[in-house]
Amino acid sequence: MAAVPLLNFYAELARFQKPIFSELQSKSQTDLRALLCYFPSLLKLISRQGTGLLANFAAENLQSVDAHLELLRAMWEGGEVLDPAARFYARVLLQPYAEYLASRAGIHSTDAGPTCPFCNARPVAGVLRAEGHGAQRWLVCSLCSTEWQYRRVVCPGCGQENKDKLPIYTGAEFPAARVDACDTCQTYLKSIDLTKDGHAIPIVDEIATVALNVWAEDHDYSKLEANLLGM
Ligand SMILES: [Zn+2]
Ligand SMILES: [Zn+2]
Repeated sequence: MAAVPLLNFYAELARFQKPIFSELQSKSQTDLRALLCYFPSLLKLISRQGTGLLANFAAENLQSVDAHLELLRAMWEGGEVLDPAARFYARVLLQPYAEYLASRAGIHSTDAGPTCPFCNARPVAGVLRAEGHGAQRWLVCSLCSTEWQYRRVVCPGCGQENKDKLPIYTGAEFPAARVDACDTCQTYLKSIDLTKDGHAIPIVDEIATVALNVWAEDHDYSKLEANLLGM
């Protein structure tokens, strides 16, 4: 699977999200309804650059402001929006919103569990950073981008702590990325190892290493949480 078109699409989405964060911040806006005004330009962006699947979903399900608000609320309040296209639209808009709210909250990441200490969403990736003589693992929230420390040898999917059940896979083409899998719950997440490449950008490299997802899925592991692109 080619990473370049995915990265271009992601860059386009990130460019779309950035001013949303700034505008919420400059107005101290915490009302979810403030996101509604961005729907029309998001739908335009997707009709230009998105997949047919995403465009069709919008044509069938996102034709009214009520539908937009309902989707945002369902995802924000419950998190369990199952349709991948629905999740995509909700997350493009909720990510900068959640990130802004998290930035106001001052989160203490000690004692955090396997889900985000701010918004309770699942992690989308791990990050390894040098600490003392080893590396400490952080998990990155799939919604608000908060990072929190999480022990290295524990599965965030099921809590398995037995090293023999937690295989790690690395591929020669991505020296700073690895698959952290679990043989108990059959899930995986990728970690970006900043001790091997200090310039890596976890969210971007998580997408760039899509070849590792293919390896993991070929080995019957499913991803603990998909990234914004649904992968
Ligand atoms: Zn979060
Ligand atoms: Zn597990």
